[in-house]
Amino acid sequence: MNQRHASYWEATLAPQTPAPVTLPIRVDVLIVGAGFMGRWLAYWLGKLRPAAKVLVLERDGFSYGASSRNAGFLTTGQVSEMLQDSRSLGLPAVAEVFLRRQQGLAMVRQQFPALAIDPCGSTDFDPINDEKREFVTQLHATLGQAVFATRDANLGGVRRPAFFQPHDAGVQPVDLLQQLRQACPDTPFAFDVQVRHVAQGLATVQVQGTSQEVRYGRAFVCTNAFATQLDPGSRVVPGRGQVIVTSPVKTATDRTLGYLNHGYDYFRFVDQRLLLGGGRNRFRAQEQTSRLEVTTEVLDHLKATAAVILGHADFAVDYHWAGIMGFIDGAHLGGSPRRSIDETAEAVAGFGGMGVALAPVVAREIATEL
Ligand SMILES: Cc1cc2nc3c(=O)[nH]c(=O)nc-3n(C[C@H](O)[C@H](O)[C@H](O)COP(=O)(O)OP(=O)(O)OC[C@H]3O[C@@H](n4cnc5c(N)ncnc54)[C@H](O)[C@@H]3O)c2cc1C
Repeated sequence: MNQRHASYWEATLAPQTPAPVTLPIRVDVLIVGAGFMGRWLAYWLGKLRPAAKVLVLERDGFSYGASSRNAGFLTTGQVSEMLQDSRSLGLPAVAEVFLRRQQGLAMVRQQFPALAIDPCGSTDFDPINDEKREFVTQLHATLGQAVFATRDANLGGVRRPAFFQPHDAGVQPVDLLQQLRQACPDTPFAFDVQVRHVAQGLATVQVQGTSQEVRYGRAFVCTNAFATQLDPGSRVVPGRGQVIVTSPVKTATDRTLGYLNHGYDYFRFVDQRLLLGGGRNRFRAQEQTSRLEVTTEVLDHLKATAAVILGHADFAVDYHWAGIMGFIDGAHLGGSPRRSIDETAEAVAGFGGMGVALAPVVAREIATEL
């Protein structure tokens, strides 16, 4: 297994140790993978299909993918990135994804009102220009709502006009993962169970060195970056993301979610510390991997970017970890996460850097269809 550094979320809120589960011989719905997608699917099935016998299988002790190791942005996205996406995909496609993410954000808030959410909004710190202003006008017209406003923002002691979005928020992802599990008390979650094969109503799994079989009515392979292992035709490509959290810092920078470099670098403040992820675009070939190692090249990039964000270099890096995203065809937008494996099984994978908001929406759609 790859070297694994705990994320800030895992380190500050210990994932609950799951009780061992005896695997049933047959279930109505089998869910493979206990990241956000698998857990939201279990959640919505519990709400909308309470009679269905559901089983969640996870190869790790908690989650080995992206869900416990991300930045915890509950976000609909930001202007610079959306403008860039609209050039290749068109404005309607970008607006549709925005609305789905907005729906996901509302779902998280509605379904988990006790979840601690930092209602800090988000700022796109990339320079504003006429093209962006025009894009925002068109986007607002397409959405039928005004979302982004221009305001003076502080980055490292320098004030500049920036697009601000008041509805975005920050969340502790491990907290949300655990609350999702607690909200499915009747659904067994089996951890440390590696699924080897899923097809024709039969899953072959590996439990403590022995092979077992579970029959199912429908299976959903929610394994994100690892989708090709169970769905050989999958177009999902892995992409590593690295994140740092600094020592507690002083800064004049606005304490919103922040974006730089078309969203490739993203930051927020947690417990008076700066959390910063990014650099994947600079080291694309090296980061196209499912290995969880962290690298000095990305660390150096993140340290230099942190100094710009804070306006000084008076900080230490207390945490540095990696998480693995899944990108359809290697791109962060433009494909559906749902793919049929056969008439009994479907893969639901490849949310790129948007799964915190999109997984609840896709999960609800599936649970409604079943
Ligand atoms: C560094 C980083 C920052 C990010 N920041 C954000 C953000 O701020 N906001 C946002 O919306 N999104 C963000 N994302 C993306 C987001 O985390 C993902 O889109 C989301 O977590 C995907 O959830 P998932 O359930 O599809 O996949 P995952 O969380 O990857 O879960 C897949 C699970 O399947 C399990 N699995 C794999 N193979 C098998 C098998 N054979 N048998 C059993 N289990 C298996 C894995 O162990 C894993 O637990 C970020 C991602 C990273 C890496």
